Amino acid sequence: MAQKSEEARPRKAHTATDPLAYHRDLAGVTDPSLAFDPEKDAVAWQAELRGKLREILAVPEIGPRDMTVTTEPASEEDGFRRQRIVFQAEPGADVPAYLLTPREGKAPFPVMICLQGHAQAGMELSLTPGARGGRDFALAAVRNGWAALAVEQRCFGERAGDCTREALHALMLGRTLTGERVFDIMRAIDFIATRPELDSDRIGCMGNSTGGTVTFYAACLDERIRLAVVSCSYCAYAESWLKHKHCACGYLPGILQVADMGDLGGLVAPRHLVIVAGRHDSIATLSGVESAFAQTQAAFTALDVPDHTELLVGDGGHDFYPELAWPRITEIRDSW
Ligand SMILES: [Zn+2]
Repeated sequence: MAQKSEEARPRKAHTATDPLAYHRDLAGVTDPSLAFDPEKDAVAWQAELRGKLREILAVPEIGPRDMTVTTEPASEEDGFRRQRIVFQAEPGADVPAYLLTPREGKAPFPVMICLQGHAQAGMELSLTPGARGGRDFALAAVRNGWAALAVEQRCFGERAGDCTREALHALMLGRTLTGERVFDIMRAIDFIATRPELDSDRIGCMGNSTGGTVTFYAACLDERIRLAVVSCSYCAYAESWLKHKHCACGYLPGILQVADMGDLGGLVAPRHLVIVAGRHDSIATLSGVESAFAQTQAAFTALDVPDHTELLVGDGGHDFYPELAWPRITEIRDSW
C-alpha cells in the first residue's frame, strides 16, 4: 500500500539530508495494507497475507518434489542414534543435515527442526554439548523425546558463504536469501515425510536469531509445521530491523508496505507459536517484541486459539532460554 500523503509525513529540517532519518520517518508513516484487522474475516486475511508473504520471500517454485537423499552410516551416541544426510533442495543446492533419533521411546517420533543463527559452526552448534545460550537444540530435543533434524542453512557451516553478498545476489535474481532458507525447510519437511520413523503430523521448528527468523517465516508459510519456537528474532520491524544494523540477509523487499512482524505471527494460528525473547536483547528490543506480540495475540484470539501463542521472556540477552522454553514445548507436544 502507498505511503500516507505528503501532508501527513512529518518534516524535520535537521534530518532533511540524513537518509537514515528519512527512511525511519517514512516507515513511521507507512500503513501496512494487510495488517490484522479484527473487523475482517481472519481466515480470508490469512490466505491473502500468506500469498503475499510467499511472493515477497520469493520462495523458489519447483516442479514435482522428488527427493534425492544420500545417507551416511549411523552412529550410536549416548541416548540417541545420529545420522548425517544430504538432501537436494533444488538442482545445485544440497542441504546437509543431522538426524538424531532417541534410543528410548517408540517410533514414529515427533520431529524438531533445529536452526542456528550466524555462527561459523552452523548446524554443529545444535549438537554441541553445553553450547552457549542454550543453543544445543538437537541434543535437548532428543533428551525431551523428539527426533531432531539439524539443518545446515545457506551461508553457514558446511554451506559457508558471504551472507551479505549472497543476499544481494539473490535480490538480483528476484529471490531473497531468507526465502531460499525457508524453501530448504520446506524441503526438509519433504524429507521427513520419506522416513517411517518420523511423524510428519508432529513437526516442530525452532531457532535463535537468524535461525528464529527462518523458523518464523517457514511456519507462516508451511502449515505442516505444527509448532514454531522463535527466539530473539521476533520484533516489530521498527524496533529491530530499522533500529539496528543487521546482516543484509534478513531484509525483505516491500514488507513494511504489507505487514509488520506481529501481523505475520497471526499466520501460524491455529497452530502453536512460542516466542522466546531476552529482556536485554540489544537486537530485538523488548518493547518492540511486546507490541508485536499484542498484534499476534489479537489474531490468535480472532481465530479462537488465544492460548496457542505465548511470549516467554528470559532475563538476559540474545540467547535461547531452555529452562523457559522446553517445559512449554513438552506441554504443547503432549497436548497433540
Ligand atoms: Zn546474514
